[in-house]
Amino acid sequence: MDILLMGPPGAGKGTQGALLSESMGLPTFATGNLLRDAVSRGTPLGLQARAVMEAGKLVSDEIILGVIRDELDRPAAAGGVIFDGVVRTIPQAEGMERLLADRGRKLNAVLFFDVPDAEIIGRIERRRGIEGRPDDDPAAVATRLQSYRDQTAPVLAWYESRGSLIRIPAVGPVDDIATRVRRALALQGT
Ligand code: ADP
Repeated sequence: MDILLMGPPGAGKGTQGALLSESMGLPTFATGNLLRDAVSRGTPLGLQARAVMEAGKLVSDEIILGVIRDELDRPAAAGGVIFDGVVRTIPQAEGMERLLADRGRKLNAVLFFDVPDAEIIGRIERRRGIEGRPDDDPAAVATRLQSYRDQTAPVLAWYESRGSLIRIPAVGPVDDIATRVRRALALQGT
């Protein structure tokens, strides 16, 4: 079972992804976490991605498709993966579809966590106070929201046209949102 989580920065994909991972027994894979870890360890990937990430821009499709391929080749990923924020451009969506198809797989569901902009900005400000992520400073957040609108929002329409997009209203208590996710997945037999 392969599930993709989408939504703007701060939409709660990480929180809901962890809950889903537990209930479905699948690993989660978040490109943001993988890249942040590479930056903090100073690996070649981290050195390549660092400046782009700190500016709030998107790293190249080539890099992302490479890390998705590596993830899919891990034995622990053989039974499916919860992909968190992994697809942010149309070429990434197309590339991911090919990588999965090569392994006889496809995305079983794409969940879109829908949160209004004003709420997003408040959530990221609070997170900055707690986690101190370098790309949570106000200028980088504005760029990330812009990248999301320009490059990632069109990906939602791409999935919608393929009938795999499920919209989850994602404001309110974490448990309520988790219930909506479980219901939505059960409704479509996932
Ligand atoms: P957010 O969703 O809050 O922007 P993430 O932790 O998911 O934060 O990602 C942090 C950064 O990692 C992004 O701003 C971007 O630079 C990079 N990144 C993560 N996933 C991708 C992707 N699929 N394509 C391009 N860049 C990505």
